[in-house]
Order: sequence, then C-alpha cells, then structure tokens
Amino acid sequence: MLSEHVINLPRKVVVGIGVIGRVPTYFRELGLQSPVLIVTGPRIYNVVGKRFEEMLVDEGYETSVIRIERSHIDTAQEILEVAQELKASTVVGLGGGKSIDVAKYVAAKLGVKFVSVPTAASHDGIASPFASIKGTGKVTSIRAVEPVLIVADVEVIAKAPRRLLAAGTGDVIAKFTAVLDWRLAHRLRGEYYGEYAASLAILSAKHAMRYADIIGRGDVEGARILVEALISSSVAMCIAGSTRPASGSEHLFSHALDIVAEKPALHGEQVGIGTIMMAYLHGKNWRLIRKTLKQVGAPTTAKELGVGEHHIVEALTIAHKIRPERYTILGDKGLSWRAAENLARITGVIS
Ligand SMILES: [Zn+2]
Repeated sequence: MLSEHVINLPRKVVVGIGVIGRVPTYFRELGLQSPVLIVTGPRIYNVVGKRFEEMLVDEGYETSVIRIERSHIDTAQEILEVAQELKASTVVGLGGGKSIDVAKYVAAKLGVKFVSVPTAASHDGIASPFASIKGTGKVTSIRAVEPVLIVADVEVIAKAPRRLLAAGTGDVIAKFTAVLDWRLAHRLRGEYYGEYAASLAILSAKHAMRYADIIGRGDVEGARILVEALISSSVAMCIAGSTRPASGSEHLFSHALDIVAEKPALHGEQVGIGTIMMAYLHGKNWRLIRKTLKQVGAPTTAKELGVGEHHIVEALTIAHKIRPERYTILGDKGLSWRAAENLARITGVIS
C-alpha cells in the first residue's frame, strides 16, 4: 500500500523579458493580499526593488521592505518577528539566494503566501520548498514552503554577474549524480524513489547541458534556458517532497567544503566540481560534465575555485558524514584519504 504522497506545486510561473513590470497583475490574478513584506538585498533594492515596491503601492497594496545581507537564522528570526507584527499576508523574496531563502523561511513559519522573484540564476532554491539558512546547526537545507508565484525576469537575470550564471549551471548539472545516488539508495536501502521526479530532474540537467553554449553567452536567451532548467529542477523537488532528486553526493561534498575551506566558493560552483568527481565514482561520463562547466565559464579545478587542494581531499573524506541518512555512492564509510586524492587527481580537480 502506498502511503499518502502530497504534492504542492507553484501556482503561477512567469519567465520572460520585462515580466517584473506585470507583477501587480499576477498578484491580483492569484488573489494575493496586503500587507506585503518584501525581503531583498541592499544593492538589488536600488536596481529593481524600489520600482517593484512602487508598482505594488500604486495598485493599492500596503508594502514594507526589509533589506538583508545574510541568511543567518538570527536575521531570519528578526524578520519573522517583523512579519508577525505587520501581520504580513504575503512575503516576497526579491534577489539572489539569501533574500529568497529568508523570505521562504518566514512565509513557511507564518503559514502565509510566498512569492519568489529571483534576480540571478545561481541555484535551484528559486522555486523549491527548501531553504538554506545558516547557523541552524544544519548545513543542509530545511523544509519551508513552495512559492505560489515565481516571476523570473530574464532581462534582470541576464544582468547579474556571469559568475552566478555559471554557478547555476553547476547546480543544474548536479541532478545527474543526485539522481544516480537516489536510485542507488532505492536499490540498496529500499528508499522511496519517484521515477517521475527523477526523470524531470535529469531533464533539467540535460536541457542545460544541451544548450551550454547559449547559457555561456550570458544573454537573455541563455538566462531563460538556465532559469527554466532551475525551475523544473525545483519542481522535481516539489513532486518528490524531498531534495533527493536535486541533491546527492556532489552536494554533500559542497557542504563538507563549506566546513573545511577557509573561504568557500559559491554553492553551484562547488557542486559543479563535486558532480565531475561523483560522476567518475558512478562510472559515468565525467568529462562531459567538465566540458559543460568549462563552456559556461564555471570553475573545474581547486585553483579556479580558490580553494586549497588539501581542502578538496579533506572534504571528499568527510562528505559521507554530513547527512548520514542520505545514502549515496560515498557509502557508509566514505573515501579514504588516498582514494579521495586519486579521485581529485584523475578528474583534474587537483594537480
Ligand atoms: Zn544545490
């Protein structure tokens, strides 16, 4: 007998040029209500946040804006208190990862509607029901809520730094090894495995891979392809009800690197390099993963990542301990120092 499997999905996903300008219409169509709390970053506020707020005010919405610089649990709690005082009915995350993560967390805690307005395509948290919050004692993401509305303006996203676009490609390509790990856990541990969610995640990765040359151009068309791939990967998580289709050993490696490296790089950059190495362990075409990352200008070596080579090896040896319940190709015992060093060397991550 199947136990109950509930799927919550975003209700409206809008991707296109200049779509931010139509936000009040989408708000009305979905019946979103005041007060609206907008969580954004200081720089993004000046670029698009101010205009965003004015548009809603002109349409009669009651709005408040909070600018944040980090996604720490203390910040998230402060904003939660503000949102409670305001009796916010809708919480918008407008910006890159941090604003979206904090807004998602706050909306989930309050049980109100969450709207995601990504201004960069650097990771697949833009549409997933999971938030990455620092300082909770957990390095992995926590359950929050899926957005009711996603507005991805590719004109805005294409103007984000190229490095973010490259990182986003790394996070999409990760679905190859994430799904292989998921399938392995299903076969070896009897873990729930959803074929549909897995196929959708793989499709996202293949989409980004197929059009890597266009993504690498960094124009609106490239931003559109990448953002669509990131959204479909997020939807795969909504369908699975877990991060399983999107996050496997390559993510564990990145989380481990966050712990051991003095100055960790971007999530998607680390995950991309993790995918090269985990694809090798799975006996898959790791060279193709590396080629795709190179095409979009993402780092493929420790040096390009700005992380010490011994930190790469150390992260590989502790990655299996990050989330012991998540079975992956790393197994229960993980990699020995020697095996980790060999792996990083063969795949050209260290020299
Ligand atoms: Zn990720």
